[in-house]
Amino acid sequence: MNMTRYCVSQHRIFTINGHSFLFLANENAIFETDPDTNDALNQLSHKGDLCKHDVMGCLRIPDDEKETFFGELLNQKLLLPSLERKEEGERYEKGPIILPLKTLVLHVTDACNLGCLYCYHSFDGANKRTIRKKGAMPVEVARQAIDFLIEHSGGLDDVCLVFFGGEPFLNFNLISQSVQYALEKSEHTGKKMSFTVTTNGTRLSEEVISFLYDHQIGITVSIDGLETIHNKNRPFADGRPSYKAILQNIKNLFKIYNGVPVPARVTVAGSSAHIPETLDHLLSLGFAEVGFAPVTTMDKASQLDSRNMNLLLTQFQHMSDKFVEFALKDQVLGFSNLIDLLAVLHEGEIKNYPCGAGLGLFSVDPDGDLYLCQRLTGEESCFMGDIFNGFSRDNVNDFRDKAVINQKEICTSCWVRNICAGGCYHEALVREDDLMKPNLHYCQWIKKWVETGIKVYGRLATDCPEYLDRISQLRAS
Ligand code: SF4
Ligand code: SF4
Repeated sequence: MNMTRYCVSQHRIFTINGHSFLFLANENAIFETDPDTNDALNQLSHKGDLCKHDVMGCLRIPDDEKETFFGELLNQKLLLPSLERKEEGERYEKGPIILPLKTLVLHVTDACNLGCLYCYHSFDGANKRTIRKKGAMPVEVARQAIDFLIEHSGGLDDVCLVFFGGEPFLNFNLISQSVQYALEKSEHTGKKMSFTVTTNGTRLSEEVISFLYDHQIGITVSIDGLETIHNKNRPFADGRPSYKAILQNIKNLFKIYNGVPVPARVTVAGSSAHIPETLDHLLSLGFAEVGFAPVTTMDKASQLDSRNMNLLLTQFQHMSDKFVEFALKDQVLGFSNLIDLLAVLHEGEIKNYPCGAGLGLFSVDPDGDLYLCQRLTGEESCFMGDIFNGFSRDNVNDFRDKAVINQKEICTSCWVRNICAGGCYHEALVREDDLMKPNLHYCQWIKKWVETGIKVYGRLATDCPEYLDRISQLRAS
């Protein structure tokens, strides 16, 4: 006699344009459902664990269809043997795992010529933690870091070097020498090397732009424009406005990059009132995409209060509607946050960790010390060894054991866990004063944003399904 008991897998049902879509939390999967399935899930959802006989009793379909229907619920993982459901949050791999190094961020300098209001390098954390500054990275450290990246990349064919700062182009000499050296190493080892840099745009001389273009270096520009907002948030260190200087440089950049996509990254600080205008403005300048990130700070003047977080969500929803209008005309509105979310939903990736920090990605500071990621460089609790003596296995494994999602109890039962996975560690450190805490301050926000993404996904899946492949490829490239 079959004693197995069954329960319904965690899910959400959305009605989109008259179609019913189901998001399956544990699988991070979305698919269209029919009224019988929805009815069965409604019937079973609040009944707890049931034996097969009782499950069949709840199905409101002809008796001769029940056996097949029951099998389909199991196959689609809508119904789970109760034991598996209990293990949903336990299935994440824990313990020492060695992953190949895929991306190394070189913190090429602490120096910056801007004095951004919200700079995380000058003010960080509930306890006003000060990040240790170490000046500019010497060429010899960069070379050894590149050797380290290749040496620890295991069987990977492609690796990535990221230049980060301060303002990285204040140490352009180091960047150019690093690229030359990395390409030589690439030739010897057969590992394909790609490069990216995040800049404030103030030092993009023609010499720098030509170098970047010649070496196919991906570039992201941090810019908060509209002009008034940008000048308020991101003045030069001496207080002068920086917008006009950047504008001329990015015009030169787009001339040379001529169609090679360059994204902009906007930090939303103080107010989120002008987000749609900012998107339009930056796209009209020639940026291929614009990504918005609420500022990470405990400084009340820069933080988004709950009214502005709500407004941000409303603005994102409006921009998502516009994105759909573009999609139906087979065009792409370069709204990075939505493109990222749709790609994640389409790929159905199951996340044990929120991001690659401390897994395939590490940062290295000017002394050669290794940290979890670019934003956590210099943060003592995130020290992971150094490029001369190797990873601190204890620190890396300890981090991975503690950061895995099943250690964040509240997250294991959250329906967006495979998209959020607890959120950014840097944000947690600043806002919660603990790297390992889930970012509970924005749970409601993230859930509503994911709902918006699922609704857009469903809309596109019914009206132009091939468009979702295109979005997915955009992120894969
Ligand atoms: S931080 Fe909040 S939204 Fe994110 S997975 Fe955890 S509970 Fe869910
Ligand atoms: S911890 Fe945060 S800043 Fe660092 S890589 Fe992850 S998401 Fe990005």
